[in-house]
Amino acid sequence: MTTVPFLNLRDAYLELKSEIDAAVARVTDSGWFLMGEELSAFEHEFASYTGTQHCIGVGNGLDALRICLTAKGIGPGDEVIVPSNTYIATWLAVSQVGATLVPVEPDERTYNIDPYKIEAAITPRTKAMIPVHLYGQPADMDPIMLIAQQHNLFVLEDAAQAQGAKYRGRPVGGLGDAAAWSFYPGKNLGAFGDGGAITTNDHQLAERLRLLRNYGSAVKYVHEIQGGNSRLDELQAAVLRVKLRHLDDWNRRRQQIAQRYLGELQDVGLGLPFVPDDIESVWHLFVVRSGDRDTLQARLAASKVQTLIHYPTPPHLQGAYRELCWERGRFPIAERIHDEVLSLPIGPQLGSNQVQAVIDATRQSSSKLIQV
Ligand SMILES: *Cc1c(COP(=O)(O)O)cnc(C)c1O
Repeated sequence: MTTVPFLNLRDAYLELKSEIDAAVARVTDSGWFLMGEELSAFEHEFASYTGTQHCIGVGNGLDALRICLTAKGIGPGDEVIVPSNTYIATWLAVSQVGATLVPVEPDERTYNIDPYKIEAAITPRTKAMIPVHLYGQPADMDPIMLIAQQHNLFVLEDAAQAQGAKYRGRPVGGLGDAAAWSFYPGKNLGAFGDGGAITTNDHQLAERLRLLRNYGSAVKYVHEIQGGNSRLDELQAAVLRVKLRHLDDWNRRRQQIAQRYLGELQDVGLGLPFVPDDIESVWHLFVVRSGDRDTLQARLAASKVQTLIHYPTPPHLQGAYRELCWERGRFPIAERIHDEVLSLPIGPQLGSNQVQAVIDATRQSSSKLIQV
């Protein structure tokens, strides 16, 4: 039986081993580990890749979100619209700056925030929105930006799962006022540890972000504001520069696998991902739905296909948000999604026989399940 792991970061490294080893050696030989040439080269290359004017490397994706909100002066008394259906980091960034979370339910077909439910959530205190490009699929940004213009709101894209994705032909990361990225190892563009970045076309915001990530300092020992410490180090930047050159190719492989899954699993009674016409997903995750998800997962595990759940519990039902007293039933669409989703293995290093093994196992495992 072919074993299919959910993720194989070792194979990803081995495929690029000579390039990555050379990049790592360049950094270790230089003896310069923070705020150097690799970081500024990566920032230029990633800004250019996303079609933006500025990229600011930071320590991780959560910091990218949080520092951006801080730079915009968002804090206590301000409301920030977030998806009810997201990874908890989106919410934590808002909480960490002391602002108030205003969750909005998703479109059940795309899993992304439903633009037509946003307007009802806006109050005089609303300052910003954080649409998330969940699972690698861009949120519906045109209507979101229209609402933002009408209400003068700051739009921060959470692009952590969507490096390379396109919306109506335009790359994500330059669609809102700023975008936060994560280079967590398992993301489509992943470092060998933590990493993150912010992209924006706003020159003033970029300047402020550069200060905030490095002790409020542009010139050593001169501290203009009270900044923190969240830097993308030279080793990570050097690795990311190599991987960025392969990102489009790796995303294409994900897209090919997704097409195979979509074609060969359409008649098995599972809910399959829906991709609107004008959207290019980069398939960070391939998420199916079942009314009997746990049985499906157990059967796939018995067939040596490893799956994960993204995510088992929505943010409002986590212990971290106990104090908000948001009980089950408060965001029913997000809750239903969390109860039913299952992520099949998808990744650039998955071999054709492994893809076939996932298809065969999923077809067998789906029989006599409660349908969605
Ligand atoms: C991974 C992720 C983050 C956080 O990134 P880290 O680098 O782990 O801090 C934020 N939002 C979403 C949607 C993510 O998937």
